[in-house]
Amino acid sequence: MKQGKLIIFSAPSGAGKTTIVKHLLTKFPALSFSISATTREARGDEQHEKDYYFISKEDFLHRVARQEFVEFEEVYNGTFYGTLRSEIERIWNAGKHVIFDIDVEGGLRLKRKYEEDALAIFVQPPSLEVLKERLSGRGTDSAEKLRERFIKAEKELNYADKFDVILKNFDLHTACAEAEKLVGEFIGK
Ligand code: 5GP
Repeated sequence: MKQGKLIIFSAPSGAGKTTIVKHLLTKFPALSFSISATTREARGDEQHEKDYYFISKEDFLHRVARQEFVEFEEVYNGTFYGTLRSEIERIWNAGKHVIFDIDVEGGLRLKRKYEEDALAIFVQPPSLEVLKERLSGRGTDSAEKLRERFIKAEKELNYADKFDVILKNFDLHTACAEAEKLVGEFIGK
């Protein structure tokens, strides 16, 4: 297996990283999305094996015990998310670079593990207020889930300067263009 590179997009939920990652996937055929495993339910039109591997908590914990994850986390109370080693290998075996949409702690863990093979980008929203508006506007979470997301988002904003780059997402068009430049330079395209 030839090792490719890793491009990590981390940010609080609602900062726009998923949109930016999706944009980059349309621009760079050399990138492939790391499908995480999670124990949460699928939302809206999310699909198994495309957006996430939706698995049971029991299955998830078995995989933890078998050390199948390069990183995993209980991102929200009782809800686990993780990157399977097999997922990174699948993408590298296909001759591609891996792009991640992952929470802040998971992102930093991958950066520490893969060092200069990884580019860790923190997506910064304009403000906590805007973030809250975006999260509420989704209409996909219960009030309790939303509160949990707000609390986590507030904490995560403090991690920005531990990343290789802070990408401001004040305007989506500009942020996508900057992301293209950063990624293009990193993968040499
Ligand atoms: P959501 O439920 O909104 O899809 O994701 C919640 C948070 O978990 C987001 O910040 C998302 O990026 C993060 N996340 C998704 N996959 C992983 C993963 O494999 N590992 C970690 N640590 N976080 C993840």
